[in-house]
Amino acid sequence: MIKASIVSIGNELLSGETVNTNATHLCAELLAIGIPVVSTYAIGDQIDPIVRALERACTDADIVLATGGLGPTDDDLTRQALAQFLGVELQLRDELLEKIQRFFAGRALSMPERNKIQAYIPAGARALANIGTAPGIVAEVKGKILFALPGVPMEMKRMFSESVAPELKRQAGGQAVVVRKLRCFGAGESTIAEMLGNMMQRGRNPLINCTATSGVITLHIVASAPNEPRAEQMAQKDEQTLRSLLAELVFGMGEQTLAEVVGEELTRQGKTVALAESCTAGLLAKLLTDIPGASEYFTHGWITYSDEAKTNELGVPALLVEQYGAVSEQVAESMARGARKKARTDFAIGITGIAGPSGGSEQKPVGLVYISVDSGTGCETKGCFFTHDRGFTRLRAAQTALNMLRLKLNI
Ligand code: ATP
Repeated sequence: MIKASIVSIGNELLSGETVNTNATHLCAELLAIGIPVVSTYAIGDQIDPIVRALERACTDADIVLATGGLGPTDDDLTRQALAQFLGVELQLRDELLEKIQRFFAGRALSMPERNKIQAYIPAGARALANIGTAPGIVAEVKGKILFALPGVPMEMKRMFSESVAPELKRQAGGQAVVVRKLRCFGAGESTIAEMLGNMMQRGRNPLINCTATSGVITLHIVASAPNEPRAEQMAQKDEQTLRSLLAELVFGMGEQTLAEVVGEELTRQGKTVALAESCTAGLLAKLLTDIPGASEYFTHGWITYSDEAKTNELGVPALLVEQYGAVSEQVAESMARGARKKARTDFAIGITGIAGPSGGSEQKPVGLVYISVDSGTGCETKGCFFTHDRGFTRLRAAQTALNMLRLKLNI
């Protein structure tokens, strides 16, 4: 199987100014045509480091894709570095110069002298058409193929799909790759990895990769086969195995969120939900109402931050707050009950906790959150402890509440 390496060029990638979305885009696009990316390098605008990165990338892989540094300014040095790496001179190509001149003429402008540099490419290399002024470059050396693409994401994406991908598909020899993503919530990465046994072994086909964001664990099933139906079949088989191993931890596929899954199911079952939020202060309502059509199932939300609000708005007995404290199982449950009663919904969720950084105690530390789901037949209440910071605690509390409601809906 042929492999690729990506070299992203530009000082802005090292100063924290620009997120390297070109590399992530290329990783996904290359994988989809059966070429895994084995390494990525981010390099500043200096010739020698770019040359060294190209050397390393060529050691790692058969195909190297560089992005950025093809502009007309003094800090755009990719073509010079490429020529140095290939051990050849840059040559002026008249046809490229004409194209660039036409680009400016089409906008009733004359070409600035410094754009002439973009008509130079290393001797023996080929140019790739661009919607902007900078042509891309393809060169071959010692059986490796190097592509230099523009840094502007729109130009890079278009050049990749129109000129690079068709060429690489031929190189990949028609190998098909199917990627399926299984979304899980309710256990950490290591627990899930243990539950999967040796399915995550490197070198296995399908390959199972795992990523974690805000408590959501995504398992990527990457199946490679000589044709797409076969790759689909392999991915499908693994999906079934993962689903049976992970059972209720799996909540969705692809890019689905917990809120989407819960919203769809509430709509399907014709059920409604109300919220009583303290420490999340509307975050759960936001997640639910980010989904178009949320009015089908979401009726009310209360942000009852103070003790008085919990009592006056939701009927939480003042004595209960006094006896157990505002952050307690009893108060979370009473909030959920009060919200459901007032809103007359099928479900209601109560959340109360200490998001921090202050306000914690030895018995009730920062990060402690109680979540209660009242489903009409009783309340299920959970005490959770989220470490890290305020934002993390609030988001995880809201996600956990959605997950509890999902399980009540049997999905
Ligand atoms: P230009 O003709 O615009 O100079 P170029 O090929 O030289 O094109 P750069 O100057 O390196 O490209 O980058 C142009 C812009 O594209 C940058 O300001 C940055 O916003 C964006 N960009 C560059 N590289 C990346 C990357 N790896 N990921 C995301 N955005 C990028």
